[in-house]
Amino acid sequence: MTQIDNRLPEQQSKASAKTPRLRFAPSPTGFQHIGGFRTALFSWLYVRHCAGQFILRIEDTDTARTVEGAVDDLIAGMNWLGMDIDEGPIIGGPYGPYYQTQRKALYQQYANQLIESGHAYRCYCTPQRLEEMRKEQEARSMPPRYDRRCRFLTAQERADNEARSTPWVVRFAMPLEGETVVHDELHGDMVFKNIDIDDTVILKSNGLAPYHLAHLVDDHFMGITHVLRGEEWISSAPRHVQIYKALGWELPLFYHVPNILGTDKKKLSKRRGAPAWSDFQREGYLPEAVLNFLALLGWSYDDKTELFTREDLIRVFTLERVGISAGIYDPDKLLWMNGVYIRRLPIDELTRRTLPYLERSQAEGGLPDSVQRPLDYEYTLRVLQLEQERLKTLGEAAQKDAFFYVDTLTYDTALLIQKGMNAASTQYGLQSALDLLTTIQPWEHAAMEPPMRTLASTLGLKTGQLFGSIRTAVSGSTATPPLFQMMEVLGRERSMTRIEQAIERLAQIDH
Ligand code: GLU
Ligand code: ZN
Repeated sequence: MTQIDNRLPEQQSKASAKTPRLRFAPSPTGFQHIGGFRTALFSWLYVRHCAGQFILRIEDTDTARTVEGAVDDLIAGMNWLGMDIDEGPIIGGPYGPYYQTQRKALYQQYANQLIESGHAYRCYCTPQRLEEMRKEQEARSMPPRYDRRCRFLTAQERADNEARSTPWVVRFAMPLEGETVVHDELHGDMVFKNIDIDDTVILKSNGLAPYHLAHLVDDHFMGITHVLRGEEWISSAPRHVQIYKALGWELPLFYHVPNILGTDKKKLSKRRGAPAWSDFQREGYLPEAVLNFLALLGWSYDDKTELFTREDLIRVFTLERVGISAGIYDPDKLLWMNGVYIRRLPIDELTRRTLPYLERSQAEGGLPDSVQRPLDYEYTLRVLQLEQERLKTLGEAAQKDAFFYVDTLTYDTALLIQKGMNAASTQYGLQSALDLLTTIQPWEHAAMEPPMRTLASTLGLKTGQLFGSIRTAVSGSTATPPLFQMMEVLGRERSMTRIEQAIERLAQIDH
């Protein structure tokens, strides 16, 4: 086991006791959905704002629920979002180890100290007894609570249990009277009646400490100054305050931050389909857009500004502006914001970042597998120049722009025929367009458009009718970038071949 530095933070070498030190302390019991990253982001932004330190600690004491790969996925997500870690697993640091399963000895030491000082006791109750108690309480609609039997065992009863080697856990003895005030920087003072609070387990029979003791010992020895965590921990906070008191340790500042709700006002959860960071990555959201979006889930600068670069956020982020009402996760807003960030990208960067999305396999969302990889960089840049305005995710480009790359278009021939036209008149219009296009020099949109407009009126067609047919012919689609710019990028040969093919399709229809 790694050596644990359990001197008080002030005695430890590196950090001064005043440097803000905030941590993200996930339990690797599943894949973190974006709500967890939002909470981590608040800590991270604050730390970067005031030159503090950001610590990642893995709360893996619930070993039965630990999911393999969850830590790697979490770190990959933080990397993707650009949340760099000052201390934690992998990079290490002076207050390690950063996995709770490697800090067992420390929790045992303080559980024992609490027993010695009369603030905790061994509970020898069997799981069966606890289960019966729970059932009975449930039947009587009472909150589930340990009845404190072992707190009041006689010395003899205790000795008997020890002599029989009865398995035990350690429970914290909550004061039976009075109230506990939890001071929270966002919520103010919250008052709890001590009698309502259970004597919770602080050391399990396997020697591992549950959250209530473990996080607190770690926060203390890791010199954590601000504890930022989800508001679901508010109800446990009075118990934590009492444990701090019993150990004679200084309390950190508490910030219980609001949950994130879906647009249906229900709490976002993995089970209800809350996205993971990798979903965003797969769909082609830009991490800088996701970061901006997450920052606004429960924090605001002035209630109106919405677009913040990472540097902006670091500059203006303060904890005072974290609200206490839930942030709403609105996927449409994220999509909009991503579009804004895409439009701001220099075209070279957009191309560089979109290419992997186009080049991945069709099954993964890329271009049809018939399209040869690698793609031509210059060609893709010209395609994206036309698409940048309307692209909302990088992943979308594969569907929207497949027609720029494939050899054969598949579309419904009926889409060629515009309102007020039939197969014959469409065929005639396309043939006339084809004849005209043969003469166009150079193959540039500015050289095509004026004569094509003239052609439409010569044929007695609205430009929408003629251009609509051409649009479908060259792209197989009715929603595309501007027609002649698109044809310029497609090139003369491809454009004209496609118009010829459209004419053939129409010729096959019975007139
Ligand atoms: N391990 C806890 C969780 O994942 C951490 C809560 C905290 O930040 O203290 O919910
Ligand atoms: Zn007991």
